[in-house]
Amino acid sequence: MRPHPTGPPTSAGHILAVLRAEGPLTRLELQDRIGLSRPTMVERLDALQRFQLIRQTGLRASSGGRPAQMLAANDVGRTALVADIGQRHATIAVVDLRGTVFAQVRRPLPAGHEPGETFSGLLDTGRDLLARTGRADSLCAVGLSVPGQIDHGEGTTIAPPTMPHWTGVRLRERFTEALSVPVFLENDANALAFGAYCDLGRPDAALVGVKVGTGIGAGLVISGRAHRGETASAGEIGHIRIEGREQRCDCGRRGCVSAIASGQAVIRELRPTGVRTAEDVVRRVRAGNADAIRVTAAAGRLVGTVLATVVTIVNPRYLCVGGAVGVLPPFLDGLRDVVLANAHTSALDGVHVGACKLGVDTTLAGLAGLVADEMLAPAAVDALVHA
Ligand SMILES: [Zn+2]
Repeated sequence: MRPHPTGPPTSAGHILAVLRAEGPLTRLELQDRIGLSRPTMVERLDALQRFQLIRQTGLRASSGGRPAQMLAANDVGRTALVADIGQRHATIAVVDLRGTVFAQVRRPLPAGHEPGETFSGLLDTGRDLLARTGRADSLCAVGLSVPGQIDHGEGTTIAPPTMPHWTGVRLRERFTEALSVPVFLENDANALAFGAYCDLGRPDAALVGVKVGTGIGAGLVISGRAHRGETASAGEIGHIRIEGREQRCDCGRRGCVSAIASGQAVIRELRPTGVRTAEDVVRRVRAGNADAIRVTAAAGRLVGTVLATVVTIVNPRYLCVGGAVGVLPPFLDGLRDVVLANAHTSALDGVHVGACKLGVDTTLAGLAGLVADEMLAPAAVDALVHA
């Protein structure tokens, strides 16, 4: 369940929040929960109906009287464009606010790609997808994820060292200007963690999501919200230094987790055997190649040592692993073995360690969920219906 909604307890936005958390409900059940007079409730519901924020979901039999119409939040009528921009790939999709994907395209990106080109390519593809799905008219927001940190105040990115052109890019402004809708930015591992949380049905439990693709990052969902920390760097485990390790990292230091156990590090280690890309690693592991299995398992074990500490401190119910390399069985098994061996015993009581079930779509689902929480927040809804 979502945390209990806050805000003016009788506003239209609050009613929608109750429907999101507890719906579908009949009008009478809503009245009982919120304590509004019938005329005020009718007025609020009319406003929500006018903006297509609620929908009727069927009838509930009631004792004695007529069956009552049930109402739910309408998270399927509005559309978001979401894009996960990575170091070597970008995926862009048209989704509704529930996270249903109507169309998506995954494009390779050149190493060291520049924002200008990537930006116009994404925009062209996004417009094309909106036209193809017939959902351009219901577009209400854009959600974008990138590796590295986000300056949420400025709407800019603080990119990882492998994306040197992406620091200080005014991503929010550029997409807002192009599409004239609100734009929300999120770190890719935070979006992945939030996608895993949404896919689990938004449980009332803490969740740690870990993304191991080209780089490594983690995200936290606590009390139903992405926990970003004081400088939006919560979960940046990739550049924790491991004592006694000397591998050079792209950040300029030595011995970082990312330099030893990221997809890029795995590729580097397997290069003498002919591996060039993350896809090569995936193919070889699936084919049972002994070198590829050994190296990915060792990487998983190293990430597991860091996560044992994270699990002990956060004490989550779920530890969800995603990313092309993270979901490979040798990586995941190595990670799980070390977490279970090293974390505090009581922190392991009932913890679920597993792969993100939605695979590469987990980040897109997370962006859809984050956009939904922003667009359907009580204050946002009240501003909309009173505009
Ligand atoms: Zn580093």
